[in-house]
Amino acid sequence: MIQYQNDRITVFESQLYKTTSTVIQTEDCVIVVDPCILPSEVEEIRDYVTGIRGSRPVCLILTHSDWDHVVGAGAFPEATVVAGAAFQSKNPEEILEQVRAFDDEYYIDRKTPLIYPKADVAVEKDGQRLEIGHTALTFYLAKGHTDDGIFAVVEPLGVWIAGDYLSDVEFPFIYYSSKDYIETLEKTDAILANHRIRILIPGHGHAAFSREEILKRKNESLHYITSLKEALRSNKEHELLIAPYSYQRGLLKCHRENVQFLRKEMELRA
Ligand SMILES: [Zn+2]
Repeated sequence: MIQYQNDRITVFESQLYKTTSTVIQTEDCVIVVDPCILPSEVEEIRDYVTGIRGSRPVCLILTHSDWDHVVGAGAFPEATVVAGAAFQSKNPEEILEQVRAFDDEYYIDRKTPLIYPKADVAVEKDGQRLEIGHTALTFYLAKGHTDDGIFAVVEPLGVWIAGDYLSDVEFPFIYYSSKDYIETLEKTDAILANHRIRILIPGHGHAAFSREEILKRKNESLHYITSLKEALRSNKEHELLIAPYSYQRGLLKCHRENVQFLRKEMELRA
């Protein structure tokens, strides 16, 4: 389904995990972000892009290597692929195997080929730019959730593609490093200062349209990480930290994975 649309931007929302796929059209190109998750959803996005693109080139941005964000890449074989530099060093088989396990569990058949694409443009540093005509993309490294995440800012539209950060439905899922995660969140103020952001689109959940909403999400995420670490250090109750979030039964599992990860990172005994 379509979560948000204006004349330039379409945010598709998957039936699963409120995962977003964004299509942005400018005079110069069509930008597709993380096309996902179910086959019918990927096909809907591909058909939409085919219908609007005309002779414009397609740029496919993959925000990070988690399987749910990579699963639809095979539907856009003609696209120029942009991903984080570390995206390249993943073991493709490991990620594709997670898609196959998911598809087998739910008896899902895919018409579009399942591939782990090679990045044509690798994002290596904060502020890296890619210009396509009058369309300017600025990238930032976004590590912490994984080691290969990126943020993308599309100008002049003022779109901030945030990957799996700054969600309104998920607290931080820390798979790589809490220190890096905090550093990534701390980039929020610089990005808001450097660009005129009109819409932030997270990988899961709803788009944010104001500075206040973006900063609120940043602070909630920081609060979750610092409070959880503090609770673990002092052996205090911590499950109430996820009380503000919906989908408790699903998210509790993710919270417990964070606890395990942080205990290891902080060298605490279980
Ligand atoms: Zn995700």
